[in-house]
Amino acid sequence: MATKEDFYKLLNIDRNASDAEIKKSYRSLAMKYHPDRNADNPQAAEVKFKQIKEAYEVLSDPKKRSAYDQFGHAGIDPSMGGRPGGFSGGEGFSDIFGDVFGDIFGGGNGRQRSNVQRGSDLRYNLELTLEEAVAGTETKIRIPVLVGCGECKGSGAKKGSSPVICTTCHGHGQVRMQQGFFSVQQACPTCRGTGKQIKDPCNECHGQGRVQENKTLSAKIPAGVDTGDRIRLAGEGEAGERGGPSGDLYIEIQVKEHAIFTRDGANLYCELPISFATACLGDAIQVPTLDGEVKLTIPPETQTGKSFRLRGKGVKQVRGGAIGDLLCKVRVETPVQLTKDQKALIEKLKESLSSGGKQHSPQEHTWIDGVKNFFDKLTG
Ligand SMILES: [Zn+2]
Ligand SMILES: [Zn+2]
Repeated sequence: MATKEDFYKLLNIDRNASDAEIKKSYRSLAMKYHPDRNADNPQAAEVKFKQIKEAYEVLSDPKKRSAYDQFGHAGIDPSMGGRPGGFSGGEGFSDIFGDVFGDIFGGGNGRQRSNVQRGSDLRYNLELTLEEAVAGTETKIRIPVLVGCGECKGSGAKKGSSPVICTTCHGHGQVRMQQGFFSVQQACPTCRGTGKQIKDPCNECHGQGRVQENKTLSAKIPAGVDTGDRIRLAGEGEAGERGGPSGDLYIEIQVKEHAIFTRDGANLYCELPISFATACLGDAIQVPTLDGEVKLTIPPETQTGKSFRLRGKGVKQVRGGAIGDLLCKVRVETPVQLTKDQKALIEKLKESLSSGGKQHSPQEHTWIDGVKNFFDKLTG
């Protein structure tokens, strides 16, 4: 699938764009053609995405870029050596997409490989505090994994010997079985499809080619991750059987509940208890944010349920976009454990307020009117 469109035009950059500009444009375009954001036409988005990726692969490589600048598309023709932008048949969209964002995606992206000897993917659940998830962190994780056996270099055969061709299938890995009229092909039961047999197994791994080991990995968790995000460490999963390729390790993020804040995407939310007096008269109060306290002015006559928005005090999400806000929802507290004097004062306040009638409690009166109407309709 050769792209005829101009690579610079595709990436929306000019001919002397810097590497950083190329990368930046590529990332934002890749974001735009994300399958989640193009649910109405995923095929068109995928085509566009592949063109953009091809353009990026050429322009981000100085050699290919200069060839392209001199000779255009002919300069990067696959037949002239190199494979700048060809897509092999099996490469799925999620695989292509996966490597754009340092392998971060929000779950559900299974990778399928036909190679039976590839090691298993591993999943590691990593619990983070909200602060760590928002700021990013570097962490060491210890995982038990099967790694290639050092003694036999993963072959499974004793040092000095090597696996021999399977005598049952003669190395094909498949055997034909007659079942009634039909001849069916299936994996060879002797070598389990590998085509090889181990006569003299390795002492260390007993012919498996793999041994169990505890591995300590250092993982960089980018800022802005949230529960359900997965980070792929390519090739850090289980080693494949008998020298097959390793699987991947997925770190799945789980953010712990926070005492004050809850998060929804880029925004943070918190409840803000204020005293009855502050609610009546207004005041400037200190409220917590993830990066320290800030002052918030509560206007006079503030009601329970009112939300105040602190712009830019939310989260910058891992996939980019604007930083979110912190929304503080007011809850007016009823004073408790009142002294005799305080009760008397409130009694006095109550009298004074009732003499003022409706105007001091607008919501209550609207509500009482509503209830009256409701009963009037029932009886009338
Ligand atoms: Zn071994
Ligand atoms: Zn066999």
